[in-house]
Amino acid sequence: MFEPPDRLKQLPPYLFAEVDRRKRELIAKGKDVIDLGVGDPDLPSPDFVIQALSDAAKDPANHRYALDAGMPVFRKTITQWFHKRFGVRLDPDKEVLPSIGSKEAIAHLPLAVLNPGNVALIPDPGYPVYNSATLFAGGEPYRMPLLESNDFLPDLGSLEEPLLKRAKLLYINYPNNPTSAIASKDFFVDVVRFAKKHQILVAQDAAYCEVGFDGYRAPSILEINGAKDVCVEFHSLSKTFNMTGWRVGFVAGNPQVLSLLAKVKSNIDSGIFQAVQIAAKTALESGEAWFQNNLAIYQRRRDLVARRLSEIGFKFTPPKATFYCWLPVPPGYTSSELAVRFLEDMSLVVTPGNGFGKYGEGYFRISLTVPDVRIEEAMSRIEKSHKHSHS
Ligand SMILES: *Cc1c(COP(=O)(O)O)cnc(C)c1O
Repeated sequence: MFEPPDRLKQLPPYLFAEVDRRKRELIAKGKDVIDLGVGDPDLPSPDFVIQALSDAAKDPANHRYALDAGMPVFRKTITQWFHKRFGVRLDPDKEVLPSIGSKEAIAHLPLAVLNPGNVALIPDPGYPVYNSATLFAGGEPYRMPLLESNDFLPDLGSLEEPLLKRAKLLYINYPNNPTSAIASKDFFVDVVRFAKKHQILVAQDAAYCEVGFDGYRAPSILEINGAKDVCVEFHSLSKTFNMTGWRVGFVAGNPQVLSLLAKVKSNIDSGIFQAVQIAAKTALESGEAWFQNNLAIYQRRRDLVARRLSEIGFKFTPPKATFYCWLPVPPGYTSSELAVRFLEDMSLVVTPGNGFGKYGEGYFRISLTVPDVRIEEAMSRIEKSHKHSHS
């Protein structure tokens, strides 16, 4: 009676299901499993933000339905933060829209801008939501390979005219999950020019824009001249402030697109709990010092992984941004085989690259969201197993 509808049948199989199952089995058997697969910060949200939430939650004025478009004070703070961070001015009434985490806005955007049959250009490997959201809206995803030889940027020049005629939406994501690649402002200039030429909306996922190392600060695509004509950008407090469970982010950019998205959202959700908006406002206003400290923790872990892996003999470029390391699979294994071997031999969970699309084959991802001592332990296990297999 409850057969899945075609819409759900179109979704690719969940490739991590088998790894998840084996992981649970091993834990049940008492194995000391280290999970380097999760993309979720291990450290707590900032105390001052929790305090702001707690205070706001006690105010009955915050207990009612929130405005769909977000609290005006929150929208204003977002525009102030945006100006300070990127030098870009946004109209708080029209050019920002708070969202229930960025995933929610990413997922609803195709319903706001695509007709059935329209093409959305999506990165491969990539965050799976671009694909599923396109399918839910009746759109047709076209997977653009992100190749190491092109610094994990899509080769827009290789896309052909008949495809571009049907394309209405282009998802990009820099700093990138899963490859940890970054994009220069020059690349964003090319993207904006491409979008204007072919009348395509750019949806840039900036979930990791604050996670940069060695002083690297990722640009916003909205810094590019004319970008507001053809771009929206997704931001999130999740990765920046260890607030994944709070569900708060925002979209910035083209006012027409934001009003279409707001229309979709107003028929689905009823805003973000006001206490969460007030806490998020506090994070954006006074989170800088806290956040620099948090960043230093990831950077230390990154350096630890880079040093240990190079000692072991893994060739890999340490990430300049995001909390992921994207590593080539050693010869003789597929991504899935390597993930199974890591799990069975070393009780280590890593994410096989093909789970993010076929161009992720040949890579695996490890996440820096585990404590230093556990990273040390994971690296020792890899070293032991590596020595063993070479003796
Ligand atoms: C984590 C993540 C998001 C979504 O984060 P939210 O918690 O929904 O804000 C979006 N894009 C990418 C690439 C991510 O890794």
